[in-house]
Amino acid sequence: MKQQGIDVVSLATGEPDFATPACAKHAAIEAIQNNFSHYTEAIGIPELRRVVAEKFRRENNIACADESSVLISCGAKHSIMNALSAMCNAGDEVIIPAPYWVSYPAMATIADAHPVIVNSNADEQFKITAKQLEHALTDKTKCVIFNSPSNPTGMMYTQSEFENLAAVLVHHDCYIISDEIYEKISYGKVKHFSPGAIEKIAHRVITVNGCSKAYAMTGWRIGFMNAPPEVFAQAAKVQSQDTSNPTSIAQRAALAAVLHAGEDVEIMRKEFERRREMVCGLVDAIGGICFLQPDGAFYLWIDISSVLSPAVPSSAIFCEQLLEKFHCALVPGEAFGANGFVRISFAACDEDIRRGVARIEAMISGMR
Ligand code: PLP
Repeated sequence: MKQQGIDVVSLATGEPDFATPACAKHAAIEAIQNNFSHYTEAIGIPELRRVVAEKFRRENNIACADESSVLISCGAKHSIMNALSAMCNAGDEVIIPAPYWVSYPAMATIADAHPVIVNSNADEQFKITAKQLEHALTDKTKCVIFNSPSNPTGMMYTQSEFENLAAVLVHHDCYIISDEIYEKISYGKVKHFSPGAIEKIAHRVITVNGCSKAYAMTGWRIGFMNAPPEVFAQAAKVQSQDTSNPTSIAQRAALAAVLHAGEDVEIMRKEFERRREMVCGLVDAIGGICFLQPDGAFYLWIDISSVLSPAVPSSAIFCEQLLEKFHCALVPGEAFGANGFVRISFAACDEDIRRGVARIEAMISGMR
């Protein structure tokens, strides 16, 4: 539609609208000029593995994190896929709380496992309870995937919520993948907590993070994970045969970002926090649709079920009509396993947020 000259406002973006920190750019340029342009160790360069392990120990209290347990990959997505490929056999089950990030069920399926979806609701702030988890676990469960802060809901599990879940997991011999890619984009109400810090389950937790969201480096494709030795060993083999090392230059850029981009991260986080206030105010003013203020990430997860009707029976059709008639793009809840919801991204400029929400309001007024 944009190519046809139509003024489309997109509030569907899944990446920060910020530039790569200068320190990372310089490190990459230097790497090119110094001809750091050959294969590296398939598991990633030792300096980066060491620095990431330190980060996991210092910031996330993951005591077992060590250079030897950190695998550098081509994005957090690649880390998760490597972990699932390493651990899953045909018929295994992977528990995925919904709403979930779109790729988890597909990745479990690619790894020959069966995704088991556990639905959460607004009353529980879109987080699954220990009771729900207990109910979903079977002797076929190979792993459970948590994502805090969450894409799409922006909710974060508190330390005590994770401890309650761990009290259940301690009795089940399965792995836990903790996708913490939005860790650095959180707004303070809930303090980020890594389940890998819980001693009694730490030896079964795979902690995933990366450069995409924290440093606005989505295109560089660097993710990392801390994994138990048996998962690390198999994931390293998968990666070695599959892609070999992540890009040498991007690894040098990632090293600089993890070491030196703290101030850039804070500038971006504050800006997202400001936009969060703005978008919450604007959507609240529409009236009749519900949302919870996000604790982290840059998404607003909105319940539009009250405005659905036989003419617009689903979030997917709502989004289709919003795009066709009002030229505003959102992601429908179905993509995240939840009809009746839409996801607004505030990784957009103020003007686009204002214009986009006005278009949503116009669409909803026409439906009433
Ligand atoms: N995990 C979640 C929850 C995401 O939202 C995304 C990207 O949108 C990723 C992982 C992928 O991150 P990367 O770009 O590092 O592969």
